[in-house]
Amino acid sequence: PVRVRFAPSPTGPLHIGGVRTALFNYLFAKKHGGTFYLRIEDTDQNRFVPGAEEYIVEALNWLGIPFDEGVGVNEKFGPYRQSERKEMYAQYAQQLINSGWAYYAFDSAEKLDELRKADEAEGKTFIYNHATRGTLDNSLSLPAEEVQKRIQAGEDYVIRFKIPAGETLFLHDIIRGDIKFDTNLLDDKVLFKSDGMPTYHLANIVDDHLMETSHVIRGEEWLPSMPLHELLYKAFGWDAPQFAHLPLILKPVGNGKLSKRDGDKLGFPVFPLQWNNADGTSSMGYREQGFLPEAVVNFLALLGWNPGTEQELFTLDELVQLFDLERVHKAGAKFDPEKNKWFNHQYFQRADNHVLATELNHHLVEQGINKSIEVVEKVVGLVKERATFASELWALSDYFFVTPSSFEEKAVAKQWKPETGAILKELADILVNTLDFTSANTESVVKAWIEQKGLGMGKVMPPLRLALVGDLKGPHLFDIIEIIGKEETIGRINKAAE
Ligand code: GLU
Repeated sequence: PVRVRFAPSPTGPLHIGGVRTALFNYLFAKKHGGTFYLRIEDTDQNRFVPGAEEYIVEALNWLGIPFDEGVGVNEKFGPYRQSERKEMYAQYAQQLINSGWAYYAFDSAEKLDELRKADEAEGKTFIYNHATRGTLDNSLSLPAEEVQKRIQAGEDYVIRFKIPAGETLFLHDIIRGDIKFDTNLLDDKVLFKSDGMPTYHLANIVDDHLMETSHVIRGEEWLPSMPLHELLYKAFGWDAPQFAHLPLILKPVGNGKLSKRDGDKLGFPVFPLQWNNADGTSSMGYREQGFLPEAVVNFLALLGWNPGTEQELFTLDELVQLFDLERVHKAGAKFDPEKNKWFNHQYFQRADNHVLATELNHHLVEQGINKSIEVVEKVVGLVKERATFASELWALSDYFFVTPSSFEEKAVAKQWKPETGAILKELADILVNTLDFTSANTESVVKAWIEQKGLGMGKVMPPLRLALVGDLKGPHLFDIIEIIGKEETIGRINKAAE
C-alpha cells in the first residue's frame, strides 16, 4: 500500500517549498488510496524552534490537506516525533557497527575544521572517507582495545557510516530517471552524535522503514543524500522506498532558489500563516493576507507539475484524480506572485456572497453604517468581480453606503461642461416623478429621456456616474441607483448639479 510522509524539521514556519512537498505527498497518497502521515524530525536540538510544530499542523489543516497519521492522530506507528523515539536509534547504529557498516570516530570538531580549511586553501574539498579515514582518529585506524578504553573512559565519539570505496551506484528516481553516483565522492556521514541523538540521516531511514514508507517525495535539495540513504537501506538489509525529488522553486526574477526572506522583501507571502519572528517582526502569511486556501493549493499544485492540458483551475478532488509523479518536471519552477493573485481572484469570485457580506458588514457597523445584510450582499455581488481579496471590498463599494464627499478631479475636468449642471437638474426632476426605482425601469426612463432630448449618452452618463459614485468607476450605474434608492440618488444628483 502507498504510505507517504511529510517530515519537516520544526525549525521555523513552513515555507512555500515545504507546503508544496506536503501537497504533492497528499495528492499522491489520495490518488492511490494510501496514507499521508506527518513525522516531526526534531533530532537537532540546536535548531528546534518553539511553536513551529503547532504552526505546521495548523497550516496543513488550514490548507485543507490534513494528515491521516501524526502526533495525536491515528498513532499506529507512533510516536511521530523523533525526539520521542530517541532511545530506539542507538540500537540501529550499534547494528551497523556490528555488521561493519559503521565505526566510531573521536575527531574533535576543531580538528576537522582545521583539515577542511587546509584543503580549502589548496582548492580541494575535504572528504571523510576511505582515502582519509585511515589517518584520522577513529575505530578503523586504532587498535580495538584502545577504542574500547576510550569509550569506557567516557570520551565523546560519533558513529560514522562507512561508505564503500570505488563503487558506482545506479539509482532510480521517479522524476529524474536513472542516476549514477560515484561512492568515492561521498562522505562518511555521521549517523549518531555525541549528545546521544541520531542525525537526520539515521533517524530518517530507520523511521521510513519502521513506518512502512512506500515513497519518499521531497525537495531536490535532498537528492545528494539519496546515495547515502540507499546505502543505508542496503546496510540494514531493508527494501528502500521509491524516491521522487521535486524541482526547486525559483525566485520570480533571476534564477536563484526562492528564499524564506524573499516574500517579505518583495512584498508577497511565502508562508501559509503569519509567523512572528524572534526579533519582534513578523512574516506575511497567505491566510492573513486574505488568500483562500483553495487558491493557494491550486497555485502550488502547478509549481512543477501540470496534467498536460491547458486547464489551470482544479478542485482538490480533480488534482487528486489527475496527479501523477511521472509528470512532475525536473527543471525548477518559477514562483510568480502575480499568478498567485490571479488564482485568488478566480477563487474569490466563487466565494459565498453571504459570507463576504457578513465580513464587509463588520466594517460597516464599525463605522456606524447600518444596512440590511441583503443589501450588503447585493453590493458584494456587484463589486466582487473587481476584487481579489475581501479586504478590497470596502474601497470598491464605499459609495453605496456613504455620499461621495469629493469628485475625481481629472474626470470632472474632462466630463463637466458648462451645461452639465442644468442637464443633471432636469434629470433629477424626471427621477422625482419616477415611482419604480428598479434598475431596469430607471434605465429605460433615463435612456428614453436622453433620446427624447437628443443629448447623447456621453453628455449624461459620465456626469451622472460622477454625481453618484464620485468617480468613473463602478458596476452598472442603474444597479447602483436601485441599491442606493430614490432619495439618495436624487440628493446626490442635485448636490453635484449645484
Ligand atoms: N527533515 C527533513 C526536512 O526538513 C526531511 C527530508 C526528507 O523528506 O527526507 O526537510
